[in-house]
Amino acid sequence: QVTLETINQLDFAKQQQLLPAIVQHPYSGTVLMQGYMNPEALQQTLASGRVTFYSRSKQRLWCKGEQSGHYLALQAVHTDCDADSLLVVALPQGPTCHLGTESCFSDNQSGNQNDNQFAEQPLLQHLMRVIQQRQPDAQSGSYTERLLAEGSKRVAQKVGEEGVEVALAAATGDREELLNESADLLYHLLVLLHSEQLELTDVLAVLHQRRR
Ligand code: AMP
Ligand code: ZN
Ligand code: ZN
Ligand code: ZN
Repeated sequence: QVTLETINQLDFAKQQQLLPAIVQHPYSGTVLMQGYMNPEALQQTLASGRVTFYSRSKQRLWCKGEQSGHYLALQAVHTDCDADSLLVVALPQGPTCHLGTESCFSDNQSGNQNDNQFAEQPLLQHLMRVIQQRQPDAQSGSYTERLLAEGSKRVAQKVGEEGVEVALAAATGDREELLNESADLLYHLLVLLHSEQLELTDVLAVLHQRRR
C-alpha cells in the first residue's frame, strides 16, 4: 500500500515523472480507467481522497470528476513489484467514462454483441450484464428470457431448488455434480437479483462491509 510517507519509494524517474495508474472498483474488481500520476497528482489523491491524475492533454493536475461530479472516491493505492505503476482502488460516484459508461474499457453503448463486450468485468459481473440485457419473453429461444418471463417467484423457486441440489451433491461427495450445481446456483441467483432490480455489486458491498 502506498501512503504519503512512501511516495518517495516509487520509481517516478523511469518515465518522465509519470506512473500509469489503473483504477479498479473495490467490490467488483472491474477495471474502470487508466491515467497517469506524477508525484503531485498522487499526493493530492492521497490527501484529498479523490483520484487525481496528471493529464497529458491538459498538461495539469486533473481531478477526475472536477466538471462532471463523477469523482472516484479513493480506498487505497497499491504499487507493483518494481514500483513503476499504480493500482488505485476507488469507488466511482457515477459513470467513470466521459462517454457515460461505468468503465472506459466497456463498449456496452455500441450495442455490438462481440466477445469483447464487458471485457473489463470479472466473470460474475460479466454474466450479470448479459442477464441484464435479456428481455422477459415467454417465446424466446433464450432460457434466461423465458425464465424472466415467468417472474420473480419462479426464479426464487429455482434458486431454492439449485441450493438443495448443491447441498445434495456435497452430501453425496459427487465433486463434479457439486461444481455443476454450484454454477447453476450462481447463475440463478444472478437472475433472481436482476428480476428483483438488485445489482451484484449491492451484494458485494454487503460482503465488503462485513470484512474485518
Ligand atoms: P470530469 O473529470 O469527469 O469532470 O471530466 C472532465 C473532462 O475530462 C471531460 O470533459 C473529458 O474531456 C475528460 N474525461 C472525463 N473522464 C475521462 C476519462 N475517464 N478518461 C479520459 N478523459 C476523461
Ligand atoms: Zn512494474
Ligand atoms: Zn473513457
Ligand atoms: Zn441444477
